[in-house]
Amino acid sequence: RFYLDRVAAHNPALNAFITITEAEALAAATAADGRLAAGEEGALLGIPMAHKDIFCTEGVRTTCASRMLEQFTAPYNATVVERLQTAGMVMLGKLNMDEFAMGSSNETSHFGAVRNPWDLQRVPGGSSGGSAAAVAAGLVPAATGTDTGGSIRQPAALCGVTGIKPTYGRVSRYGMIAFASSLDQGGPLAKTAEDCALLLEAMAGHDPRDATSHPEAAGVFASTLDAPLQGLRVGVPEEFFGAGLDPEVAAAVEAGIRVLAAQGAVIKPIHLPNNAHAVSTYYVLAPAEASSNLARFDGVRYTYRAAGVEDLTDLYQRSRYEGFGAEVRRRILIGTYVLSAGYYDAYYLKAQQVRSLIREDFRRAFAQVDVIVGPTTPTAAFALGDKAQDPVAMYLADIYTIAVNLAGIPAMSIPCGLTAGGLPIGMQLMGNYFTDGLLLNVAHRFQ
Ligand code: GLN
Repeated sequence: RFYLDRVAAHNPALNAFITITEAEALAAATAADGRLAAGEEGALLGIPMAHKDIFCTEGVRTTCASRMLEQFTAPYNATVVERLQTAGMVMLGKLNMDEFAMGSSNETSHFGAVRNPWDLQRVPGGSSGGSAAAVAAGLVPAATGTDTGGSIRQPAALCGVTGIKPTYGRVSRYGMIAFASSLDQGGPLAKTAEDCALLLEAMAGHDPRDATSHPEAAGVFASTLDAPLQGLRVGVPEEFFGAGLDPEVAAAVEAGIRVLAAQGAVIKPIHLPNNAHAVSTYYVLAPAEASSNLARFDGVRYTYRAAGVEDLTDLYQRSRYEGFGAEVRRRILIGTYVLSAGYYDAYYLKAQQVRSLIREDFRRAFAQVDVIVGPTTPTAAFALGDKAQDPVAMYLADIYTIAVNLAGIPAMSIPCGLTAGGLPIGMQLMGNYFTDGLLLNVAHRFQ
């Protein structure tokens, strides 16, 4: 009731929720009370939360913040939804996002932009902007998000909360509407690393319904949070501190690195030379996969259908033109272009080769260090409308987050200070495959 009241009071200004499920939430809370009264224990039992509106929820519409799915209700729950429900969490509703998770500011949503609770004239980041804003404003203590190129970490940084993108294959993608399947990964956003650890324990695990789910996806994260950092080898990539990084962000992250050193970590400069190509590589590969994944939204299945069409081709064309927003259409056009005969070798294949180089950079780095630390974003939250008309400027906001997804490694963003203007700054921790627990441990000791 406390959180529902906060949602009612503050969501009109923030626009973090697309759907509020008050009646269902109160019923679920009563059921959780019953389980507690019966002696059941569990860290998440009865804890309120909300899902990014990309996770399918049986009986509650799942829009992906698109006109295309405005009336779509999935007939089943995503595995993540199922798992958190089994743990006893109480869903308060579905959270706003960039349309089909394409964006870095939450301005591409069919349901309107989300506002940053720290400054309502600024963006919360994206694409999980509703999740980060809702947690930051205390509308829910926890939320789910997805991260294809930074969409958990970047909004977490801009809203001053904690979020982890797990190792690819850790969290099931079943029932999570696909954007770029080789990059997409679900994860939690919350106030602290400890909360994220508890949430990830519940979310992670092998799922036979997701062919890319790892057989050893399950993990224990909460019991290892207190391990000391003495001797931990922390790599600082020079490429993450170059031109384009706001000096206030650099100073806050450097101060964070000194905190780790004071705890006994050994700081080493490292290099990730191919990070310079990460944005261009991603913006070939992610649209290519998206153009294929979004082909299913054809105006016949999944709700939105244009009215008064002349024939089948007209039905496809007009339904997709009217159902998708401008950014989604841009991605589909880029994706089909780079995959088309004659251009495939020059763009798609080349990008896959550069992806291997980026993965190699991390392999070499993790031969020398345990964790890599840097900024999550080049600047703190920018103003609404600032980059909305300039896709390339928007894509550059992802410069520090994208290489992680191309490699499939885990990474998280934790708050590490404020700008002089009072806006949160995020510090990013990156780890080798399946070291999600180590990242949470470092974050917890840091906080
Ligand atoms: N900003 C990136 C994009 O627009 C990443 C989005 C994401 O991680 N879902 O594609």
